[in-house]
Amino acid sequence: MKKLLALLLIVLLALPLGGCGAETEEITVVATFYPVYILAKNVLDGVSGVSLTSMTPPSTGCLHDYQLLTGDMRTLSTARALIINGAGMEDSFLPVIKSRFAGLTLVDCAQGVPLLSADEHADEDHGEYNAHIWLDPHNAMQMVENIRSAMVELLPGQADRINANAAQYTRRLTDLDAELAAAISALPNKKIVTFHEAFPYFARAYGLDVVAVVTSDPDTPLSSRMLSDVIAAVKEAGNPPLFSEPLYGDTAVRTVARSTGAKVYELDPLVTGDGALTAYEDVMRANLAVLQEALGQ
Ligand SMILES: [Zn+2]
Repeated sequence: MKKLLALLLIVLLALPLGGCGAETEEITVVATFYPVYILAKNVLDGVSGVSLTSMTPPSTGCLHDYQLLTGDMRTLSTARALIINGAGMEDSFLPVIKSRFAGLTLVDCAQGVPLLSADEHADEDHGEYNAHIWLDPHNAMQMVENIRSAMVELLPGQADRINANAAQYTRRLTDLDAELAAAISALPNKKIVTFHEAFPYFARAYGLDVVAVVTSDPDTPLSSRMLSDVIAAVKEAGNPPLFSEPLYGDTAVRTVARSTGAKVYELDPLVTGDGALTAYEDVMRANLAVLQEALGQ
């Protein structure tokens, strides 16, 4: 009898707080990396019955060449849906996920996004398209719409809240876009050199001209030939400002700066941060301030 009571106590303690039988099961939704996580977090804000996690910590950065870790497999094994960026960002590990987790719902945020082809600077193994789609707010809005429709399907009882969240977030992104468009069109200079090929979508949206990128592969040190090619391209473009990125060392960018006299600033491609709901807008506005300083005269 004592044993039975002890067992009962263990069972009761194991129940979640407030749970008394009629508890609906919470589903887990996983986002592959930071920008997708931020968009999904806004769509699912305050939605009950779902827990959202990011497969990779924000210190990971872009997922070019990423290989799945044991912890990722554990995270995915509990997931009902996986939200991916798409456009090739997850190509190095997506086949493994598809074969190991056949029942997982895949939400491809790139659906309906007009894709740019990978730049000629990019290596062949970097896929057909440039994957940094989220840096154009118009694309971010399409990504939000893709997440919204998938989440409504997954959680029909929460449709009202999900739809309201998506509508509210889309309004904020629309305001942000108008602000960026007005401010950047007023800048007298439009040429920029970025650290890696992260900003073509942003540049296309606001009429900036990425005249060179310092590296096609942010995870590999630059060869001296690649470096001299970049230096030549920067000089030819009249030494426009260079933009390093948080997360990646700025040694290569500094080297180009020393050889050209071009000034160095920092643009954030939004692959790392504190996870705030307003992270997307905050980073874009910070980037705008940097661009105004760099291209203002
Ligand atoms: Zn990248």
